[in-house]
Amino acid sequence: MKHLLARANRGLLASSARRHTVLVFDFDGTLAPIVPRPDDAHMRSRTRVLLASAARSYPCAIITGRAIADIAPRLRGVGLACTVGNHGGEWEGAAPRTRHIRAKVREWRVRLSEQLAGTEGLFIEDKGLSLAIHYRQAHDQRAARTAIRSAVASLPAAKLVGGKCVANVVPANAPHKGTALRQIQRMFRAESTIYVGDDETDELAFPSGASPGLITVRVGPSRSSRAAYYLRSQREIDSLLAILLALRRDGAASRSGRR
Ligand SMILES: [Mg+2]
Repeated sequence: MKHLLARANRGLLASSARRHTVLVFDFDGTLAPIVPRPDDAHMRSRTRVLLASAARSYPCAIITGRAIADIAPRLRGVGLACTVGNHGGEWEGAAPRTRHIRAKVREWRVRLSEQLAGTEGLFIEDKGLSLAIHYRQAHDQRAARTAIRSAVASLPAAKLVGGKCVANVVPANAPHKGTALRQIQRMFRAESTIYVGDDETDELAFPSGASPGLITVRVGPSRSSRAAYYLRSQREIDSLLAILLALRRDGAASRSGRR
């Protein structure tokens, strides 16, 4: 894994700025700092300004685990080309047939609330097409994880995807961040794509083999990640956005002969 903002990688970012590049981001832990209560998550104002400028220079998309109804107000006014929620299962504006999935998720919620009633510090969030079981407030997080794993194992056709103090329960054959990313690449006919994420669900968007034209970036270096590059911290997202903007401005200026 290499530090994306290292001087040695400036050429890579410069070539992205010259090509038709789509910028794709996760939200929590990537554009917005992780906070104790997921409801309080928001971008710093500097990130918001940079992202809005980036969205005028590049097609920008978000793929998040949050439901669209939850994420849309947090991104209002930014001017994104595309927002995908529920780990790839819910597209803004699109209305896929999801009635049977929603019914199944409601049934899981009832069963999990009963089975996990004795485990302290848990909060089950119903996102319509998936559930998120938050256990950041649990004193014994290992016990919470064990209880969640065994409860989810008893559900029919459910899959558990881990995260930072959250266990996501999604339909076993549901689309994921990787399928959503490929769809976005096709939709925008991307020559090049930069994907930035910080968590286990983002690993599905980091292919294991070579993937020409896809630059995979993890927030925080990790030996077990499949991403090729890392940012040192969530704060570095601002530097990445600023560099991509400056590179594109330089390119536009040199093309118009002003330099
Ligand atoms: Mg995240």
